[in-house]
Order: sequence, then structure tokens, then C-alpha cells
Amino acid sequence: MNHPDILVIGGGIAGLSAAAALSKHAKVAVLEAEGQVGYHSSGRSATMLHYALGDRLVRALTLASRPFFDDPPANFSEVPLGRAMPVLIHARDDEREALDQLEADLSAFAQLERLDAAGVHELCPLLKPDATHGIADRRGIRLDPHALLQANLRELRSRGGELHTGMRVAAIEHGGGVWTVTAANGERFSAPILVNAAGAWADQVAMLAGVRPIGLEPKRRTIITFDAPPGINLDRLPFAKTVGDELYFAPESGRLFASPMDEVPSDPCDAQPEELEVALAAHRMEERTVIEVTRIHSRWAGLRSFTPDHHPAAGFAEEAEGFFWLAGQGGFGLQTSPAMAAILESLVCGTGWPVADVTADALAPGRFLAQHA
Ligand SMILES: Cc1cc2nc3c(=O)[nH]c(=O)nc-3n(C[C@H](O)[C@H](O)[C@H](O)COP(=O)(O)OP(=O)(O)OC[C@H]3O[C@@H](n4cnc5c(N)ncnc54)[C@H](O)[C@@H]3O)c2cc1C
Repeated sequence: MNHPDILVIGGGIAGLSAAAALSKHAKVAVLEAEGQVGYHSSGRSATMLHYALGDRLVRALTLASRPFFDDPPANFSEVPLGRAMPVLIHARDDEREALDQLEADLSAFAQLERLDAAGVHELCPLLKPDATHGIADRRGIRLDPHALLQANLRELRSRGGELHTGMRVAAIEHGGGVWTVTAANGERFSAPILVNAAGAWADQVAMLAGVRPIGLEPKRRTIITFDAPPGINLDRLPFAKTVGDELYFAPESGRLFASPMDEVPSDPCDAQPEELEVALAAHRMEERTVIEVTRIHSRWAGLRSFTPDHHPAAGFAEEAEGFFWLAGQGGFGLQTSPAMAAILESLVCGTGWPVADVTADALAPGRFLAQHA
């Protein structure tokens, strides 16, 4: 039996960033079901940091995370965690009101530039002429999830923490103030604190532990990649998104990627792209841009898991001593991971509260129990 002070279930960005933060104070072990970290949502995302994601609370978490990406702490700065990429939100004439509203909502978080038709097409020459309005945030970041996961892992290991891959948690018991976890291969671990960072599986992990679920809803999202038209300077292209949740696209390893921003409810699983959403991505690219998607190079899907109010859950379960929830990071789990890890560190280890605009109550998992009692 392995006896750390804190066990973290899940080797995605939530679990690894939590473990890295906790390892400053305690002996931490991460248990990951797959053979590698970031195999599920954290390795399948669109990897952007931008403020059009989520609502005010999510934007506050993103803003609080920004200094970490702009000026990473020592163990995180070996490899860049991302690169600058402008963000363009574009609109047709009939969508102008929605763009005005979004501009008002985002202006507290980002320095935005309002663009006319010429400005929109200068920033993104691929858009059709009917994209006549835009807002640009020139300080967007295209994150590198691999670098981010590995940097957290480096930090964890440098402080004596451990990662155990291929360790699918199959049973969880609580007794004498200790959580004992048994993996499918029979290995056992125990610790007084258990962090549930199991992504789409977080409700299932809670149920294994006899803790009431919070009502997480995993939703599938699809991405395709395809060739860019000849003569386009991919390095200068922005992350371009419709003002409504219809389409985004951006350069990706010498090609383009696009998502139809699908949100198809799913059980927790190894998500796979479905033909319908793949076709929708290509169709919306052709509807909004001058590109013809003649051949799809690659496709993938991942799960974005939401709590009932679409805000993440971070905090101890009220009815189960030492059981900590870190779940529901939806479509913003990479860009908010530094703030969420600092919040967890504060709640578990008593360090200062890191995000002035977000309260612990707003993230407390207990807020859902009335609905799911
Ligand atoms: C298409 C797409 C686009 C996205 N775009 C963005 C974006 O632009 N910006 C952004 O910030 N975010 C984005 N996201 C969201 C982001 O990827 C997620 O919020 C984030 O990865 C969630 O991290 P996680 O660690 O909670 O989940 P995961 O990465 O899924 O990690 C959970 C881990 O728990 C493990 N696990 C589950 N059950 C067990 C068990 N019983 N025992 C042991 N281990 C277990 C799983 O194997 C998994 O590795 C996007 C997501 C998708 C799918």
C-alpha cells in the first residue's frame, strides 16, 4: 500500500495542476487510468486562452490565470506554455447587436479593438465579405497543452510527488479518517485527502466513494483539420470565431482546424467524432469563409464537462470529510487551470485566496446538492 498525504484521481490538466500546487505542502500521488497524461479532454482541446469563453466568473478565473502564462514560475518556464495568437470575433450585419453586447461584456477583461469590414478582412482574409464587423483581442494565447501538462508534472516530481499511470480507480472506501483507493489492477493507495479531478468521470468517481454526484454533463465537441488555400500566411492568421456559438477556426501545424462548436450530450467515454458534426464543421467553414474543404486531414472529438450552472466545482464535499471536488471545467479548463489550482491550494492548505472577484461559495460543490439530493 502506498500512503501519500493527498491522492489525486485524474491526470488531465485539472489533476496535474492541482497536484503540482499541493506538492509544495504535502506528499502527493496522482492516479491516472490511461497509460499517458492528457489522453482525454486535456489533449483534445482547441487550446486557446480567450475571454469569449464562459461568463463573468469564468472570465475572472481566466484573467487571474493570465500572469501565470505571461510570466511562468521557474519550473514552468523551460518550454513556452503557448504563443501569441490574436482572437477575432466576427459578425454579419444581422449579428451586430450580439457583437455589441459581447464587446460590452468582454471590455472589463481584455483590451479590445473594434474593427470595420476592412479591419476584419485585413486580420482574417479567409472570411467571406459578409463578415462586416469584428472585435479583436491582440493578446490571445494559443496554449501548448503538452508543455503545460509536462511542466506541471515536472513541478510535481521535483517536489517528490508521483504519477501512477495505468491506474484506473475501481473502488474507494473511507474509514478512520482515511480514503483507501483500489485500482483495477489491485494496487492500493490511501490518504486522508482525496482530490476528484476525473474530468467527465468525476460524478462516477464520487459515486464509487459514496459521495453524492453534482450532476455533471459531459458534452462532445468535434474538431477537423484540413489544408489551407495556397498563398495564405498561416502565421498571421487569428483564432477566428463567429459571435454566436457556430464556428471557430485557426491555424494548426501548417493546416487549419475548425469546430462547429457542437455540444452533444455524452456519457463519459473515449469520445470519437461523428460524421454529422464532421460534415457540419466543413459546411460552416464553407458558409463563413472562402475556403472549400475538399479533403479532411484529421478529426477528433473530446468531452467538455459542465456543472448545472456551467461554473466549475472546487471544494470539499460537505458530507464526506477529505473528499475534494475539482470538476466541471467545461470548455475553459486549460486557460483557467492556474487560478483553479491556486484556489484548491488555498482551500486545502490555507494559503491566501487568489482570485478577488470569485468567492469560495460560488465554486462550492454543495451548491448543487439541493437539485441532486
Ligand atoms: C474540442 C474541445 C475544445 C476545447 N477548447 C478549449 C480551449 O480553447 N481553452 C480551454 O481552456 N479549454 C478548452 N477545452 C476544455 C478543456 O480541454 C477541459 O476543460 C480540460 O481539459 C478538462 O481537464 P480535466 O483534467 O478536468 O479532464 P481530462 O483531461 O479529461 O482528465 C481527466 C482524467 O481523469 C482520468 N480518470 C477518469 N476516471 C478515472 C479513474 N476511475 N481512475 C483514474 N483516472 C481516471 C481520465 O483518464 C482523464 O485522463 C476544450 C475541450 C474540448 C473537448
